[in-house]
Amino acid sequence: MTRTAIVTGAARGIGAAVAARLADDGLDVALIDLDSDGCAAGVRRINDAGGRALAIGADVSRADDVAGAVTRVAEELGPPTVLVNNAGIIRDNLLFKMSEDDWDSVLGVHLRGAFLMSRAVQEHMTRLRSGRIINLSSTSALGNRGQANYSAAKAGMQGFTKTLAIELGKFGVTVNAIAPGLIATDMTAGTARRLGMSVEDFYAAAAEQTAVGRVGRPEDIAHVASFLASEGASFVSGQVIYVSGGPAD
Ligand code: NAP
Repeated sequence: MTRTAIVTGAARGIGAAVAARLADDGLDVALIDLDSDGCAAGVRRINDAGGRALAIGADVSRADDVAGAVTRVAEELGPPTVLVNNAGIIRDNLLFKMSEDDWDSVLGVHLRGAFLMSRAVQEHMTRLRSGRIINLSSTSALGNRGQANYSAAKAGMQGFTKTLAIELGKFGVTVNAIAPGLIATDMTAGTARRLGMSVEDFYAAAAEQTAVGRVGRPEDIAHVASFLASEGASFVSGQVIYVSGGPAD
């Protein structure tokens, strides 16, 4: 039976690469993002290559959006047994300048979003005794200047991952986190601009700090997600895999 995956924040960056890779692996894939139009190109590429994909517009921090999206996936593609909680935002600021909205919106998308999505999807996974939940953490979980909100969310993602792994393991569901270092996406290009640097200079400086001498590509993360989603990875659970071109930080 063809497995069905959901990837959130799949319109671009890491989410788009993960969705494409899971489709290459033979899964049907639902691409969820705030605006379903943003996922249209990704869906077209997958369908043109002979796969099956569906675009859904939903805000993962809203319980009603999440419930509607997961119901649609189950009806139109089949019960989801792979979930990649990837949707994310940054609202960087030093603590004394960080607003309550900066804090709430970042925690809301990353943590509340992963919670709502996982709670909605686990019903299908536990019933079918098969599931893979993959959460996007970050090296920022270890601390990063200007990211009190984001690092708290990404560290929280690690505790969330380990707890779900304990709760869901006996139902055949594994739960793991990927913690990327700097990956070249719109998110990090935006950071470069905010710091007043060219994107090229920002990436070059980051590459110099990395053992392998380059910054990451979305496909680097998709490769690890593909492994964690595979049926053969059923004895890997509760892990945080740093994918940062070297030791964690
Ligand atoms: P990105 O290029 O900014 O893409 C994130 C996507 O998530 C966007 O399409 C965005 O939609 C969507 N999104 C935001 N809020 C959402 C919500 N409430 N509901 C549904 N979708 C939402 O980011 P990325 O760099 O690919 O990062 C993907 C994930 O990896 C994030 O969790 C990020 O924290 C994590 N990560 C990234 C890096 C890195 O270096 N890039 C490193 C470590 C971890 P809009 O475009 O409409 O806003």
